[in-house]
This record gives sequence, structure tokens and C-alpha cells, in this order.
Amino acid sequence: MKIARRLSSLMARKLPVRPARLTRARAVASITFDDFPKSAWTAGGPVLARHDVRGTYYTAGGFCGRTMDAITYYDAADLSALLAAGHEIGCHGYSHQPTPDLASVALAEDARRNADFLRPFVGQAVSYAFPFGAVSPRTKRFYAPRFASLRGVHPGVNQGRADLAQLSTISLEERCFSEQVVDAAIAAVKDKGGWLVFHTHDVSDAPTPYGITPQKLDWAIGRVKAAGIGFAPMREALDVALSA
Ligand SMILES: [Zn+2]
Repeated sequence: MKIARRLSSLMARKLPVRPARLTRARAVASITFDDFPKSAWTAGGPVLARHDVRGTYYTAGGFCGRTMDAITYYDAADLSALLAAGHEIGCHGYSHQPTPDLASVALAEDARRNADFLRPFVGQAVSYAFPFGAVSPRTKRFYAPRFASLRGVHPGVNQGRADLAQLSTISLEERCFSEQVVDAAIAAVKDKGGWLVFHTHDVSDAPTPYGITPQKLDWAIGRVKAAGIGFAPMREALDVALSA
């Protein structure tokens, strides 16, 4: 089963479902938060505001107003507040399960539930992130037509020929945070163009392994901006990345 899962994931990665040629004329960056823990907004939001950066918050409807494993998640008021500040709400599935675990009927039901949950806030979300970055060829094909861009967690920069159905990211998570990786990603797109997508979860002085400190988030954003690369939420960065 484990081998089958890995093979399926590898095949999904190798099979572009929405191939696109990204511009070489400019670079753009996006900061994204998954799930999302309340601190991504209450502690991450002020860091973004300090840099005049708007981000994308990939929202799993099933987490709204809940506290699980000592993590307090966003609530409806947070969604309204971050929208008012110009950030984007993206879709992250309702029950936050790895999509390959869901049979097609359950996948459709989960997608419908999250669309229903997000509708009062954003109408139709246009950006999607796979929970845990887990994809199979089947689930990639299922989600691809429903969103303008889809993000995984495979490490890398999006440059040249990219798959809009499974965009790569640079992790800003404590467990694998590396200044060298961030700097290398910036260097890769600075002159040759491309789309840097960062992802993390909670923002705290004592983050989970999947989150980041405000200081490191501040550093990474500052580093990108110092290289002359602007930030935009996923839905807007997509237009920049596809521009001539
Ligand atoms: Zn997630």
C-alpha cells in the first residue's frame, strides 16, 4: 500500500495536468498559510502588514472555530478581517484529508462542503492547496478544472514550464527552514523570472514543526523584497506569472 501510494504520488508529479509556460520577464512571490491556525492571522498578519504584503490563507472549513491538538484555528471573524485587509482565502478541502484517501464520491462531497463553507466569504475560491500536498493522478484531475491554480508541497521554484495543477513551494516551516534554501530560491528567479510560493502554518515565538516564528517570516519576506521581487496573493500572482 505504501509503495502504491508513493508510486501514485510520483506519477501525479510526473504528469502535468495543467502545463503552463511561466514568464521569464519577471519574478513574483506568494506567501501562503495552510489550514489555518489562528496565529497565521493574528501573528502572521501583522508581519505581512509591516511589509505591505497580502497573502493567501488556504482554509479547511472543518477547522473553523476549533481547537485540536492544542492548536486554535481561525474563526469566521478572522476570515472577514483578513478579507477586509485584502488577503485571499483559498480552498484546502473541508475535512483536511489526503485526497488519495478519498474515493471519488467522498472527494466530490468534501469539495462541495468546502465550497459551501467558503461561499458566503469569497463566492467561488480560485486557489486550492492539497491537504498534506498529497495527490494522485485521479485527485489531481478531479481538482484541476475547479481552480485557477493548485498548490502541493513539493519543494522547488516554479519556473519555465510549470504545472498549475501542482505548484511547487518553498517551505517556511520550522522543521525544514533554511536561509540558504530561501536565498537560493530567490537567486533562481531574480533574473530569470518565475513564481516563488512559500508555505507555512502557525506563526508563533514557539511554533509547531509546521509553523514559523514571526522573526523568520519577517526575514524571509524582507529578503524577497530586498531582491526586488514583489508579493501577491496566489490568484493575482498567477496573472503575473502568466503575463508576457
Ligand atoms: Zn493543511
